[in-house]
Amino acid sequence: MAAIILDYFGDWQTRRLTCPVCGWTGTFQEGDTELYAALQDCQCPGPHGFTDRPMLAILPFPTFDEWREHWDEISEAQRCLVRLAEAKEGIQDRD
Ligand SMILES: [Zn+2]
Repeated sequence: MAAIILDYFGDWQTRRLTCPVCGWTGTFQEGDTELYAALQDCQCPGPHGFTDRPMLAILPFPTFDEWREHWDEISEAQRCLVRLAEAKEGIQDRD
């Protein structure tokens, strides 16, 4: 089964995920989430073994260009983080 790829600027925070194996339903954040450098993933928190825990969804983090496309929708705190990350990458202040 393929995990759902979520849109960071979409409805992933309220969207309900369903485990095809045990029937668990819940939001991304109610699942068993793990944070990586470029994405966050969500595995079913239900009664599965460590090796056969279904991957329900993947949330890729936006690129700098995607953040800028949604600049008006994001919070000031997020803008701060994006600016810091851009500075770290040597990208000039684009405001
Ligand atoms: Zn499950």
